[in-house]
Amino acid sequence: MKKIVLDENEMPKSWYNVIPDLPEPLPPPLHPVTKEPVKPEDLEPIFPKALIEQEMSGERWIRIPEEVREVYRIWRPTPLIRAERLEKALKTPARIYFKYEGVSPPGSHKPNTAVAQAYYNAKEGVERLTTETGAGQWGSALCFACKLFDLKCTVYMVKVSYMQKPYRRVLMETWGGEVIPSPSERTEVGRKILEKDPENPGSLGIAISEAIEDAVKHENTKYSLGSVLNHVLMHQTIIGLEAKKQLESIGEKPDVIVGCVGGGSNFAGLCYPFIRTAQKDGIKIIAVEPKACPTLTRGEYRYDYGDTAGLTPLLKMFTLGHTFIPPPIHAGGLRYHGDAPTLCLLVKHGLIEARAVGQISTFEAGVMFARYEGIVPAPETNHAIRVVIDEAIKAREEGEEKVILFNFSGHGLLDLQAYDDYLSGKLQDT
Ligand SMILES: *Cc1c(COP(=O)(O)O)cnc(C)c1O
Repeated sequence: MKKIVLDENEMPKSWYNVIPDLPEPLPPPLHPVTKEPVKPEDLEPIFPKALIEQEMSGERWIRIPEEVREVYRIWRPTPLIRAERLEKALKTPARIYFKYEGVSPPGSHKPNTAVAQAYYNAKEGVERLTTETGAGQWGSALCFACKLFDLKCTVYMVKVSYMQKPYRRVLMETWGGEVIPSPSERTEVGRKILEKDPENPGSLGIAISEAIEDAVKHENTKYSLGSVLNHVLMHQTIIGLEAKKQLESIGEKPDVIVGCVGGGSNFAGLCYPFIRTAQKDGIKIIAVEPKACPTLTRGEYRYDYGDTAGLTPLLKMFTLGHTFIPPPIHAGGLRYHGDAPTLCLLVKHGLIEARAVGQISTFEAGVMFARYEGIVPAPETNHAIRVVIDEAIKAREEGEEKVILFNFSGHGLLDLQAYDDYLSGKLQDT
């Protein structure tokens, strides 16, 4: 069978929280000024109470509200697809399955958390959300979700991406969002940076600082983050919970699980539901990141800020430093200086393996995938596909019948400039 679909009523009713199943307690986030562990009240100016509770929760299962499931039904459950044509082309004995998250209206996994976050904010009387976006995937997911719950949405978009990817801005505006290139004149943080460097290309860290400042300084306004935090990763576990059911329905078990990592949410979303038994089941789990922003493979494991200005709590993570500005590679969603603390802990303990791959090799993989499976992947997703192909070739060389599962985090139909650059030989490895 090539395509494994679940019935609407088989959609999971709870998200999975990995916290109680970590090999050691998660080092707590620290207050940016006092350096003491953050208290729930500290977070109230920027997040609604329900999300703060989820962020700090030690419960393994958290119920998905019916209102959120109702919106999920627009595109969920998503299909699990066997990439048989790619397998044949690679002459591999491996069976390759991908969870196709590109079927959502914004085209990626991101609305899985955007919808949940918009719902909890609306329920607590919030009127506007602010956020940052790199390639525009997160901003578009949040604009889409906000509209469904009647919230306004202000998106600070990293300036290089704003220039490179005009269609994402149009998508955000079509869903009623307001999009501002960052650094901007709207915030103190932005004005300071522009004063020193008017040509600053922006970074996720700067855009986060601007979005937080905007939320803190305005009434009935809160901030929303698209990755890294515990509650975000938890909302994404619907991906892995569905995939697990789908594989079980055809009697398959994964030997290798692969995903790309920006902040870690789509990757965690797929692999966390498998993590409790991964060692016992002999599952190899691989996190793939760009060589241009090698957080997990080259970063230092220490406390660092989530943003450039140092407004966020300090998180214990692999980091390249909160002032690091990665080169403008096309996988904008993977240009973040840190990673989710739970993911970093699991990498530190060797339960998850990290690999860094070069930009050109990811497009080679993505184009091959598009030519055999038809779907054009997002540049971020190409990172996962690179390693999937490498693993499938290894299975061929070793004559092993492996089952490889990966997260197809989004389609690339709004990233065709990147494909044009690759196809015309203009793409570079940094
Ligand atoms: C944002 C994005 C990513 C990276 O973010 P994570 O939080 O690491 O998942 C990966 N793929 C796509 C398609 C994205 O939009």
